[in-house]
Amino acid sequence: MFYIGSHLSVSKGFLAMGKQAQSIDANTFQFFTRNPRGGSAKAWSEEDIAAFLDFQKEHGFGTILAHAPYTLNLCSKEEATRTFARNTMADDLRRLEALPGTLYNFHPGSHVGQGVEVGIEQIAAGLNEVMWPEMQTTVLLETMAGKGSEVGSRFEELRAIIDQVKLSEHMGVCLDTCHVLDAGYDIIDHLDDVLAEFDRILGLSRLKAIHLNDSKNPPASHKDRHEKIGEGYLGLPAIVRIINHPSLRHLPFFLETPNELEGYGNEIALLRSQYQA
Ligand code: FE
Ligand code: FE
Ligand code: ZN
Repeated sequence: MFYIGSHLSVSKGFLAMGKQAQSIDANTFQFFTRNPRGGSAKAWSEEDIAAFLDFQKEHGFGTILAHAPYTLNLCSKEEATRTFARNTMADDLRRLEALPGTLYNFHPGSHVGQGVEVGIEQIAAGLNEVMWPEMQTTVLLETMAGKGSEVGSRFEELRAIIDQVKLSEHMGVCLDTCHVLDAGYDIIDHLDDVLAEFDRILGLSRLKAIHLNDSKNPPASHKDRHEKIGEGYLGLPAIVRIINHPSLRHLPFFLETPNELEGYGNEIALLRSQYQA
């Protein structure tokens, strides 16, 4: 089954996102758990979640992906900023228990001059504080572009974080195709090699989701500017190889391309036409 969806807004609730996804022939979706700028989030309605869970089952939707606000930084130099990130993630994870089996993706953080090793320690310390043994959510580290002092643009850095997380059985990775290209991994001409490297360092069983984005910039640019599918440096042939790759084709794919709903619908139609049944 090809699970493909796009980023949607949570503002009207879960059932509304399910129906919106269905209207563009998606069978999954991603949403921000709250305003990307962070801050407090409205409570989620139990009735809405119950209705969504029925909808998800009835329409054969795959796993959905909750995205933490991208402004959180577990490895900020400022203790107050680290604490805010921890508290927000703890609140998100507690809420997500109402949606068992959901994936929760976050940007590992920016070490802002503290050095990557300190960054990794602080990220793992934050995770160790907010995770608990019976949690039903899998927490995903997103592969980053390496903009500024971002941690997580090398597979080794993600490995080091996971190694320091006590409940690492609840940890996985979300691979963002724009970011890995930006980080210098050649997924255009050497996808097999990159996946072999991922497998050697992280283990392909850790890979739980793909952010499917084209890139406005050439490989190794460290810029993190997403482009529409087929209109950037990654290009459609490479994207078609990614969605059909035997190690990836079973994973849920999430578009974070610069689009409104209609544009996402067009990209989903294009990708469906290129997915080998
Ligand atoms: Fe992200
Ligand atoms: Fe992403
Ligand atoms: Zn990005």
